[in-house]
Amino acid sequence: MEIAPSVHAVPLLNVYAYLVSEPQMTLIDAGLIGSGRRVERYAARLGRSMDELSRIVCTHAHPDHIGGVRELAGDRDVEVLMHPADLSGLEVTLRDAVANRNRGQLIAYFTRHPGEASPLVDGDVLPILGGLQVVHTPGHTPGSICLYAARHRLLFVGDALQVIRGKVTFASQVFSEDIAEARSSVARMAELDVETIAFSHYRPLREEANRVLRALARAAAVA
Ligand SMILES: [Zn+2]
Repeated sequence: MEIAPSVHAVPLLNVYAYLVSEPQMTLIDAGLIGSGRRVERYAARLGRSMDELSRIVCTHAHPDHIGGVRELAGDRDVEVLMHPADLSGLEVTLRDAVANRNRGQLIAYFTRHPGEASPLVDGDVLPILGGLQVVHTPGHTPGSICLYAARHRLLFVGDALQVIRGKVTFASQVFSEDIAEARSSVARMAELDVETIAFSHYRPLREEANRVLRALARAAAVA
């Protein structure tokens, strides 16, 4: 499904990855382990090969977002990019996770490490889609990022927002590490001029995105 020129929502198991099909391709998130073949098949239908993939950007380090990174980056010359707060969070032992009774650490322990990755921080701009801006929106995980393409007024939010019964709302209370921080991070999204919100687990929102983001930011501010 093409959601903007050269931007494809690739349906994987219960999650979307986004393939930017410019001459050098970029993938935003990579699904669970085993998702590589599905991404490859999608690209093949566009007449493209994974050998044209130059980077994978990870919105955060949960297993349904980075599980497929290694099989896609593999031996290819693919740069993997992630916020350092999530990359360091993956360096956890089972003993630490159990001792700290920390759900985030437990998830991290069972997440397949993406291998070598380069840091990506707030304000970085990737040379795709006319400039894809990194917006650090911690809370769901410490290193959760959104990606904003001003040219298309398109915002990729990863799991920083979800949709429940048709309504956009804050990140999951169950799977987020710091829900208060996740709520206040919405203020960063509300500063942007957004027409389309691209979620990881839901179809894109194309109606009244700015109004929705600003209402959530206000709700977070008074809570
Ligand atoms: Zn997540």
